[in-house]
Amino acid sequence: MNIHEYQAKELLAKFGVAVPAGHAALSVDEAVEAAKKLPGPIWVVKAQIHAGGRGKGKFKELPADAKGGVRLSKSVEEVRANAQDMLGNTLVTIQTGEAGKQVNRLYVTDGADIKSEYYLSMLVDRKTGRIAMIVSTEGGMDIEQVAHDTPEKIRTIVIDPAEGFQPHHGRAVAFALKLKGDLNKQAVKLAEQLYNAFIATDMSMLEVNPLVETTDGKLLVLDAKVSFDSNALYRRPEILALRDETEEDPAEI
Ligand code: ADP
Ligand code: MG
Repeated sequence: MNIHEYQAKELLAKFGVAVPAGHAALSVDEAVEAAKKLPGPIWVVKAQIHAGGRGKGKFKELPADAKGGVRLSKSVEEVRANAQDMLGNTLVTIQTGEAGKQVNRLYVTDGADIKSEYYLSMLVDRKTGRIAMIVSTEGGMDIEQVAHDTPEKIRTIVIDPAEGFQPHHGRAVAFALKLKGDLNKQAVKLAEQLYNAFIATDMSMLEVNPLVETTDGKLLVLDAKVSFDSNALYRRPEILALRDETEEDPAEI
């Protein structure tokens, strides 16, 4: 079962993970209200569908040169216009297939001033029960493409849950991302927080793409994709409650 970006970020924030502030919205009015609760001067309106590649996606009902499913907005009025453009329309991305997915929910969030984009994901190796933390300096793009073109830019750090997350795991993550000084410290802390969230909620997959460094020197989770497997759901009704019935086939969970 997949959850939406906004739900994943709310979950991660409970474990101390730094995420930009934001609010989900089901209507244009709610999107405007959400924007008013944030400081600006840049807002980002993000389509909440169970698929990645939203930024470069295209809406079926809009002209071919219209913007995609992640839109920077410089005023509350621009947030309104972007929400109007997206809600109810069908977003086609490299992950949705040709049919696309209808956008019924938006996330209105603080715009970050991005200096660099990184990649971090976590997976369970079903055979060994170990957890792989996969990191790359090449964030914000399709990781399969990076794996194909520049595999040397991807590092995997393996964690045995019996041993737990150790300081050397955090240092390996920060080193692989080539972070120095305070950013290095933030990466060590973030890796442990993400690991804790992953274990405590029985995630099967967590993908942060991009993880960003802001111009004022903060590491922020800018996009988050989280999946749970069905075994975890039986143990965790609070996770099952996050299910979006408009998108999920009950047979899938
Ligand atoms: P997707 O992976 O589905 O395309 P992302 O959330 O990764 O969606 O957004 C795509 C790109 O848009 C990011 O790589 C980033 O450059 C930009 N972006 C996303 N959220 C923000 C934000 N809050 N502030 C600034 N830029 C953002
Ligand atoms: Mg992304």
